[in-house]
Amino acid sequence: MRIYSFDQLIGNQHCISILKTCITQGTLPHFMIFHGVGGTGKSTCAEITALAMTCPHTKEGNPCLECISCKSNLDAIKHGTKSSTVAKVNVAQGNTKTDVDRMIKEIFTLQSSDRNCVYVLEEAHTLSAALQTSLLEEIDRLDSKTYIILCTTKLNDLIPELRSRAILFQFKRLTDKESRLLLDKYLLEHNITMEEEAKLAILNYTRGIPREIVSSTEFLSKNTKTLDELLNHINQINDTVYFGLFQTLANGTIYDLSCYLKDEISKYDTRSFVAGLKEFYIKIFFQIEGNVDTLAQTSDIMEFTYVSDLLRKVDLFSLGNMINKLPNNAKEVDFSFFLINLYQFFHGKKVSNIVKEKRQAVTTQKSIAAVSANEVEKSKEGLSSLHAFSTGTAKYNFGGGNKQ
Ligand SMILES: [Zn+2]
Repeated sequence: MRIYSFDQLIGNQHCISILKTCITQGTLPHFMIFHGVGGTGKSTCAEITALAMTCPHTKEGNPCLECISCKSNLDAIKHGTKSSTVAKVNVAQGNTKTDVDRMIKEIFTLQSSDRNCVYVLEEAHTLSAALQTSLLEEIDRLDSKTYIILCTTKLNDLIPELRSRAILFQFKRLTDKESRLLLDKYLLEHNITMEEEAKLAILNYTRGIPREIVSSTEFLSKNTKTLDELLNHINQINDTVYFGLFQTLANGTIYDLSCYLKDEISKYDTRSFVAGLKEFYIKIFFQIEGNVDTLAQTSDIMEFTYVSDLLRKVDLFSLGNMINKLPNNAKEVDFSFFLINLYQFFHGKKVSNIVKEKRQAVTTQKSIAAVSANEVEKSKEGLSSLHAFSTGTAKYNFGGGNKQ
């Protein structure tokens, strides 16, 4: 889904409004650099600028898309060829120095006439310093009807001479509001209905990159049938997993908690689980401390309120520290420590009591025939790490505790 009008773009209005003004007033700089993270709209804006600068019938800075010039330039842009006034070249595609040298010479050979010509060079940072210097020489020779836009994701890889010669446009990620607007627009245009939670997951996953918002939504709306499938694909963990964690923490034994944690961690990759836990904590934190209404962003309002109420009773900063200390690539032993600290913190119990409790729970569990041998094995492992902990570093004590 390519867009060829500035007015249909969402986000980066600081760049777009200047470009439109320049095009309308005939004050567009001859040499520009469009810089920003991949997928933020540099290429699209460069294409629209090229179309508008060569269209005799622009409307408020936008190309008409209907005249002969627009049609032939659109065709060239869509097919990666060049027209008589517009050329868009990805310079990263040249393999050798000679290739790129020839490419640079070739692209600056559009018909010289009284019409504007626009060159868009993508991935400009991939050119060697020597090639950038020869590009600079070519640029110096260009006439007053010629405009050049370099698109790059790595501004620092451009030689200072090029950078200082150009007017820089910085393309940014979309804000939360803009991302939401883009997603809703896409869904509406394609007649797709999507659960609120799925939308939030996609927005979270695509981090304000418009190209990713569109491509992920397109892919996921076609290929996933359930919310769980969608969340799994993008490795997002549903909030209910963390609701469950805190509910078990409040109401269960440490044994229950360790079973719950092991079970959930096995379903996801560790990094996503830890990142999700940190995000979940921040959501709860803002809800409680800042009285910021994050309820609108979760579909499980009942659980969210319940967990917020639970955590209101503890020192949130200590809890945050504990969660933040959990490494992104946490190993099983990290989770064991985390779990003991969390339990001790929440219930204000001595480690020795926690160990006793766990031992009792394991014994009870063992006597229940329904428990599979595998699970018992797992609990033994857990017990040995708990034991090592209690004998080795029993002095370790988390402040805060339960204020109840
Ligand atoms: Zn036109």
